[in-house]
Amino acid sequence: MTNKIDEKFIENLLSFGIELDDIKLEQFHKYYELLIEWNKNINLTAITEYGDILTKHFLDSLAIVKAIDFKQTLSLIDVGTGAGFPGIPIKIVFPNIKVTLLDSLKKRVNFLDEVIKNLSLTDIETIHGRAEDFAKEDKLREQYDISVSRAVANLSTLSELCLPYVNVNGKFIAYKSEKADIELNEAENAIQILGGGNIEKISFLLPGTEFERNIIVIDKIVTTPSKYPRKSGKPEKTPL
Ligand code: SAM
Repeated sequence: MTNKIDEKFIENLLSFGIELDDIKLEQFHKYYELLIEWNKNINLTAITEYGDILTKHFLDSLAIVKAIDFKQTLSLIDVGTGAGFPGIPIKIVFPNIKVTLLDSLKKRVNFLDEVIKNLSLTDIETIHGRAEDFAKEDKLREQYDISVSRAVANLSTLSELCLPYVNVNGKFIAYKSEKADIELNEAENAIQILGGGNIEKISFLLPGTEFERNIIVIDKIVTTPSKYPRKSGKPEKTPL
């Protein structure tokens, strides 16, 4: 059963070129219910109104289609995914992509495991740990077409956490709001050191709102020097 809020969500997704069938809409409903249920005991989201979650979490996560053609994408890692944003909405809409959700907070990873089970999602894994540590592992380093991150750190820090996971010719995508230009200026050096380039900023208003959003698209041009990322905490304390 759809209601007016669902219809608005479906319409907003159509403006992104995304058609939502009943099965996927039902998965979003279940995801919402689990978020609210688990949010009573662990801190997952400050946003709890149904319509707000659909817009500010689900729709916002899916704005990545402005930057990425998911028909050409095989694998994606979401660094600092928290309650699953943007990784879970992307997986629901594009089930063929292999998705890794990484977060340093065990309780949130437990929640994500429950979502995966309840929504019957396949070809998706969770990793509990710090991005700095797992980026050193051969089976993850430079293994992804896309590394993505939303609301985790400033762009310099984030580049060090995310670019090591991307294969050469892949992309690192960062979701940013108003301060995108300042962060871009400050991150230029870090991006170059870490093997990134061809930086692009895609600006838009989140459909149905006045919220400015920016998606930063960074190509992986050359391999990341093996000394990066530096040890846990360093990218945040002293950004490159
Ligand atoms: N991406 C989600 C979103 O947009 O709602 C979550 C954002 S939340 C503010 C930041 C998340 O990043 C937290 O869940 C935190 O545990 C995780 N995080 C921060 N630094 C991290 C690191 N170095 N490695 C892994 N996860 C990290």
